[in-house]
Formats: sequence, C-alpha cells, structure tokens
Amino acid sequence: MAHVFCVANQKGGVGKTTTSVNLAAALYQAGQRTLLIDLDPQGNATMGSGIDKRGLTNSIYHLLVGLAGLEVVRVASPPGGYDILPSNRDLAGAEIELVNLERREKRLREALAAFDADYDFVLIDCPPSLSLLTLNGLCSAHGVIIPMQCEYYAMEGLSDLVNSIKKVHANFNRELKIIGLLRVMFDPRMTLQQQVSAQLESHFGDKVFNTVVPRNVRLAEAPSHGLPGVVFDRASRGAQAYLAFAGELVERVKTL
Ligand code: ADP
Ligand code: MG
Repeated sequence: MAHVFCVANQKGGVGKTTTSVNLAAALYQAGQRTLLIDLDPQGNATMGSGIDKRGLTNSIYHLLVGLAGLEVVRVASPPGGYDILPSNRDLAGAEIELVNLERREKRLREALAAFDADYDFVLIDCPPSLSLLTLNGLCSAHGVIIPMQCEYYAMEGLSDLVNSIKKVHANFNRELKIIGLLRVMFDPRMTLQQQVSAQLESHFGDKVFNTVVPRNVRLAEAPSHGLPGVVFDRASRGAQAYLAFAGELVERVKTL
C-alpha cells in the first residue's frame, strides 16, 4: 500500500515545492517507488522535475475533471527517477469546473485508487491556499507533511492549518493525520529562528522531524536547471538534508 502524503502549508514561499521535489528524488534514490503530484497551477514542481509545463498534452487538470486517466497523465521525471502528474495554468480552471462535479473533493482520491500498488510513496505538492484543489489533496492523503520556516508568524499560520486539517479529518477523511513538521530554510545564526524552533519542539514534540533543512542557495538554484537539488548538487548541505529527511520518513512510516 502506498503512503500518500500532502506537502501543505497555506502560506506561499515556505518550501512546499522544494520539499516535494527533493523528497521525491531522495525517496527514489532510497529505492522507493514514488509518484509526485503537482497540485499547484504554478507548475513549479513540474518544472523542477525537468518537465516543461508549457508543452503538456495532459495534466493533472485533465485527470481531475475526468478528461484523462492517471496512466495517460503520468510521466517520468528523467532527472528525478520518480513519476509525476504534471501541472500548468490549466489547473486554475479546474477549481471552477470542479464545483459543479459530483464528489468534487474526492476526484483525486478516486483516480489514485487503482494505482495504489504501483507506488511506495505518493507526494502531493499543494497550492498555497485551502482551496478545493488542496481539499482534493487532503482527501486523498493519509497524512500531511508541513514545511515551515522558523519565523515569528509561523506559529500563528500553523494553528490555521492544523484547524483546517482537523475539519477535513472530521468531515471527509478519517485517516488524515499530521505526519510531521519540517523546519526548512533554517539559519542557525538567527536567534529568533532558534527560539521558534525550540518552541515548535516543546509544543509539538515528536511531530517535529529531527531533520532540519538549512537555507542553502544550491536548493534555490536547482529548479532553473530543471533538476531536483539532490541531483543538481548532491553534496550540498541542502541536498544532504533532504536525503536524510527521506531516510527519516522511511523509518517513521514503519511506526504509523
Ligand atoms: P512554496 O512551494 O511553499 O511556495 P518553494 O519551495 O517554491 O515554496 O520555495 C520558495 C522559494 O524559496 C524558492 O525560490 C525556493 O527556491 C527557495 N527555497 C526553498 N527552500 C530553500 C532552502 N532550504 N534554502 C534556500 N532557498 C530555498
Ligand atoms: Mg509551491
């Protein structure tokens, strides 16, 4: 059975896509059969996986509105090694079209069901909103991985997200739980970041992953080469952190 995890945080620019792409590539390198789902119309996970979002015949949009099956939408990420359901601007329209469809929040879940045996991990890169797209992600998942920066307002945003996850759990998906919080773009020289990091640990205990992803320019440079950071510069501190995170996640799922 595949472990299906959303990478979610309603804030933009907090490292969801960087985490999704690098975790997918690191899991593949650890021998895990992995599917990455780009659920953001910006298509950043698609581009970062070496796939040109402008040239797609089919995308996750076609899957969600019922125009194409998963087997025709999925493509392999040549540099990453994992499979991906790519996205582009078409997906922005899905939001409106989905409203009128039956079981609109379960479209992705139903599409994934038949392919469960193909993968060990399915990662869903969510858009920065609590939209119908994100709801489709959360309804499909067993758990949520929350990347966050250790900043002043981080805790506040986190409680909104935790409440939304609770609502989805209560109303749509009894399986859903928080797998863990991942500290990203961490700069240990900043006292404030250390304080927020310690606050997270005392508040959320072992829901905070041990791995901390440092702020590292190589991770930011990789997408412009169409490569996951762990492929672009495997030796960089950022890449090493995501490789360690994949190992930590593989261990953690054994306890779920
Ligand atoms: P989101 O998907 O949440 O909007 P991204 O993953 O796109 O966030 O990250 C936002 C920006 O920060 C991007 O330019 C990305 O390259 C950069 N970034 C993400 N993680 C790191 C990191 N650990 N170190 C340096 N830059 C990072
Ligand atoms: Mg993103």
